[in-house]
Amino acid sequence: VPEALPRTQAGGQPLPREALTETAIQIDRMNKWYGTFHVLRDIDLHVAKGERIVIAGPSGSGKSTLIRCVNRLEEHQSGRIVVDGIELTSDIKNIDRVRSEVGMVFQHFNLFPHLTVLENCTLAPIWVRRLPRRKAEETAMRFLEKVRIPEQAGKYPGQLSGGQQQRVAIARSLCMEPRIMLFDEPTSALDPEMIKEVLDTMIELAEDGMTMLCVTHEMGFAQAVADRVIFMDQGQIVEQNTPKEFFENPQSERTKLFLSQIL
Ligand code: ADP
Ligand code: MG
Repeated sequence: VPEALPRTQAGGQPLPREALTETAIQIDRMNKWYGTFHVLRDIDLHVAKGERIVIAGPSGSGKSTLIRCVNRLEEHQSGRIVVDGIELTSDIKNIDRVRSEVGMVFQHFNLFPHLTVLENCTLAPIWVRRLPRRKAEETAMRFLEKVRIPEQAGKYPGQLSGGQQQRVAIARSLCMEPRIMLFDEPTSALDPEMIKEVLDTMIELAEDGMTMLCVTHEMGFAQAVADRVIFMDQGQIVEQNTPKEFFENPQSERTKLFLSQIL
């Protein structure tokens, strides 16, 4: 499979699933506890390069914990997590390598308030990637254009709307040139009129072929771009399916109950 495989065919049709062959993330029989609380139970999840996954499920079901395990913001206790061929163990070298390949966007943006938009975007490339400032700024402007707010580059986060701040957070992640993006309810803290601009940015990213794991309640987004919807409850993956099957023909009672509450 060529590296720059387009994820959509002309006309915006998703590529056939057979085209997604290389593995980006492999999670096998993974378990995690918070103290004595068994938060993730026997998680098996294989994600192909270029695949778009939406993770849904009730509050407290372990969605955030699961995606935080993928870049080792949380540590798992048993089973295996392999990201782009790198196994996550206590080896700090592997953790650093994985973190440089995996970008993450949070519900509450987490921008540095005392830095401008441009400085937020160049900080890690300069200090972690060791890019010359000029090069880092060029890259940052390219991604700020991509999320359609280059004109905000000199402002501080507090001067922007929530939707603009979240788009800066996405651009900031992209500046590290990640191969995988994790989103943890990126629109949950936004006013309704700002949700669309962030989802549109995420849809564009999906169309560019980014491998994406998105925890979201935006079921329209799931229907539009997800290859697979994963449904979690009580620390387990209860069901997974294409969006069409997931919404039209949910299998488990827990999924049916969840859908009846959110749709
Ligand atoms: P979700 O994102 O689906 O709402 P989380 O992954 O945030 O679920 O949390 C799953 C469960 O783990 C919840 O019961 C939550 O209270 C618990 N939990 C989350 N983080 C911690 C933590 N750092 N320490 C102890 N328990 C936690
Ligand atoms: Mg969560």
